Amino acid sequence: MKLAARMEKLPPYLFLELDRIIEQQRASGHDIINLGIGDPDQPTPSHIVEALKNAASQAQNHRYPNYLGGVNFRRTIAEWYEARFQVSLDPLKETVGLIGSKEGIAHLTWAMAGPGDVVIVPSPSYPVYFTQALLAGAEVYSLPLVAENRFLPDYKAIPEDVLKRAKMLWVNYPNNPTGATATLEHFAEAVELCRQYDILLCSDLAYAEIGYDGYRAPSALQVPGAKDVAIEFYSLSKPFNMTGWRIAAAVGNPTAVGALGTLKSNLDSGVFTAVQDAAIVALKTDPVPFFQSQSRIYQERRDIVLKALNKMGLGIPAPLSTFYMWFPTPTGMTSSEASRFFVEEAKVVVAPGASYGDAGEGWLRISLTCPTDRLKEAMERMKGAVQRLS
Ligand SMILES: *Cc1c(COP(=O)(O)O)cnc(C)c1O
Repeated sequence: MKLAARMEKLPPYLFLELDRIIEQQRASGHDIINLGIGDPDQPTPSHIVEALKNAASQAQNHRYPNYLGGVNFRRTIAEWYEARFQVSLDPLKETVGLIGSKEGIAHLTWAMAGPGDVVIVPSPSYPVYFTQALLAGAEVYSLPLVAENRFLPDYKAIPEDVLKRAKMLWVNYPNNPTGATATLEHFAEAVELCRQYDILLCSDLAYAEIGYDGYRAPSALQVPGAKDVAIEFYSLSKPFNMTGWRIAAAVGNPTAVGALGTLKSNLDSGVFTAVQDAAIVALKTDPVPFFQSQSRIYQERRDIVLKALNKMGLGIPAPLSTFYMWFPTPTGMTSSEASRFFVEEAKVVVAPGASYGDAGEGWLRISLTCPTDRLKEAMERMKGAVQRLS
């Protein structure tokens, strides 16, 4: 069977070889600890689960949902942005419900870019930004995020001809996979650049509610005038341990939000109304104490990993957000060699940095979404494996 030509544009799946090794190790009876996946291990708060149960039992919720998100859900998102970021949004023109951010990130690309257009994508980054740009036939310009610049892009290094053809610029702070954070001044620089070249600034705020040592992330929409050029993705997945529920919103520039909604109404039929009702409860029942208790759990794990990495000679600065630790590979290994090394020698899975883009080569990502005891055990094993190297 011959697939569409565009399928050939997808880069090879870098976890394939790793998946095979993990399977082999498991088949030989080894107890593998997986620190590769970023998916909260803690449950969704029970009042949100109860709200879903209640909403699911109501017959009016069993029909097709409002495709763009119900008015109540969109109003709740707008109220939350006002309370959390002091950003005002028109619920009907400047917000749209999504079946998770991933869905919206993918479809926004189809609404904005095609052949002849450039999409500016940080490297390393969440792979959906570049795979969708490729599928949509657009050209990807990679914007390297390097340790020397605290994993922030250098916008001045982007050539003028690229900026002139660019339709979208992706930013993701707090950042997956590097754990880096950005200030409002950094967002302001991106807004200014996008205004100058008529580019849509696409901010992915997946990790806004995780913060360590008192840190609280800003929204790109807090930059005055940002709504002229920016759209932002706000997901309930990571903050509320709701990755399986599939609910998020895109907010900001009304033209971009409207285009995404138009495209979506031709593709999907929205989020189950009962899930929207539960999301309303999640945002309306002061969520801040939950965010804080969740952040305390991750912060304890962060400190366990930091200490262990230091002992391995792979020390990094303490990240202020996200549940990722991004650190260099031992002894000049490539990232896939190092992933393989840790699976075989420590029975621990860590994600190879190169799977997030070329600039991720030589780096590894550990996710803190693993029960604390298992994480400690994983660090002991990794330390042992690195010590045996020398
Ligand atoms: C997890 C993640 C998403 C996807 O979130 P969903 O709302 O669950 O689709 C988007 N962007 C980044 C950077 C992520 O890490």
